[in-house]
Amino acid sequence: MDTVQHIFKGTFIHSTTRCDCEVIENHILGVDHAGKILFFEDARKQSKLAQKWGFDESSIQELGKNEFFMPGMIDTHIHAPQYSFIGTGMERPLLEWLEHTTFPIEDTFSDVDIARNMYSAVVKRTLRNGTTTACYFATIHTDASIVLADAASQYGQRAFIGKVCMDRNDTYQKYSETTEESIRETKRFVDVLKKKKYDRVKAIITPRFAISCSERLLNELGKFAEEQNLHIQSHISESPAEIKEVLRLFPDYKNYTEVYDRNKLLTNKTVMAHGCYLTNEELHVFRERGAAISHCPNSNISLCSGHLDVRNALNHRVKVGFGTDVAGGYSVSLLDAIRKAIETSKILFMERSKWDNNKTENEVKGSMTPKGINRDAQNDKMEKNNVLSYKEAFRLATLGGSEALSIDHIIGNFEVGKEFDALLINPDAKDSPFEVFSHIPKEEMLQKFLILGDDRNIKAVYVAGRCTVPFSSNT
Ligand SMILES: [Zn+2]
Repeated sequence: MDTVQHIFKGTFIHSTTRCDCEVIENHILGVDHAGKILFFEDARKQSKLAQKWGFDESSIQELGKNEFFMPGMIDTHIHAPQYSFIGTGMERPLLEWLEHTTFPIEDTFSDVDIARNMYSAVVKRTLRNGTTTACYFATIHTDASIVLADAASQYGQRAFIGKVCMDRNDTYQKYSETTEESIRETKRFVDVLKKKKYDRVKAIITPRFAISCSERLLNELGKFAEEQNLHIQSHISESPAEIKEVLRLFPDYKNYTEVYDRNKLLTNKTVMAHGCYLTNEELHVFRERGAAISHCPNSNISLCSGHLDVRNALNHRVKVGFGTDVAGGYSVSLLDAIRKAIETSKILFMERSKWDNNKTENEVKGSMTPKGINRDAQNDKMEKNNVLSYKEAFRLATLGGSEALSIDHIIGNFEVGKEFDALLINPDAKDSPFEVFSHIPKEEMLQKFLILGDDRNIKAVYVAGRCTVPFSSNT
């Protein structure tokens, strides 16, 4: 057992670059002491593997009949301080919601004691729900943002932490910084996090969104991110009112995407939340730069912002991951993001079908009989091509998220050499919210968990081989 930290035997389900959902049964996976996957092979080779890697076969942890491992889920967009009011205050549209609910509460995080309590709660809650990697917005307060980084590191969550930058806040002026402060504090934040030498927690440059940043601030942040080769996160094209305001504030730019792009904030290490109204031209720029979209369907519905046409983004070969966008979104769970993303794609499909059918009726009325068009066949085709399948959603919550954050060489699936970020799923858990009545294929077991399951089915959570859930007594 010198080289091997864990050896698991059973079923593993993951996505690869070629397959959205690959079920691998009766396999043995070994994790080394650095948390990396050392081998992943057919269980019939058990004795040979034991000899090769020097472990005792009795140390193999065998999974239960219906249990399986899946990769840890990746939340590419979540606001840690907003966890304090999750589930409330969603009666207003985005800009009013920010002014009346969000800014006053985020402002209280100047008090690091408030931050400490809230941040350990949100890290624990997300981990327990299977979020092994989280891309967090904190607040404008540097010291409180450092507290969030400490909490993620303490509980073993892989995380990007953003000290929020905003030098313009016309609606709630109290919660704002000067341009100089914002730049200076961002540099201090990045410096402190580097010195802390966390294993898996990093700083991410975080202009809140174009409305709350001056052109100079965006420019300085873009330059700094480039110099330091840092990740970047922000929001884009979330609601019509927001886009209108951005175009008013930045009259020299042809669209929202250009505001970030010209200021060097759109790179292959950038993840932008929402993108509901991005045009094809803007999606093309995303693709060119290698920038990603964080699809946050719960938030988009809860704040009546709009819908992202995820199929169109994927067709443009833009990287897409899922975000909970707590607390615009009311669930911390990526399982909810999976469900809402599928539902959003079905809503868009229905709206398009309605439009297509109306068009066909009109064509018939106008004696322009659409020869050869079989409407059922047409709908079948649309279904195949447009509605997001549960397998695709599974991919976006795992491997897709790692691609969105440009860390797919480190995590995202069970390839040998990657770090072992994984969830042990038990469909037969006590108090499970669903039943497994008979022997069903493992693919259907996964589907049941994704659509019906919750944290009660997540028996254990591993990040880089460390068992983070159940929580140990010293965390
Ligand atoms: Zn957000």
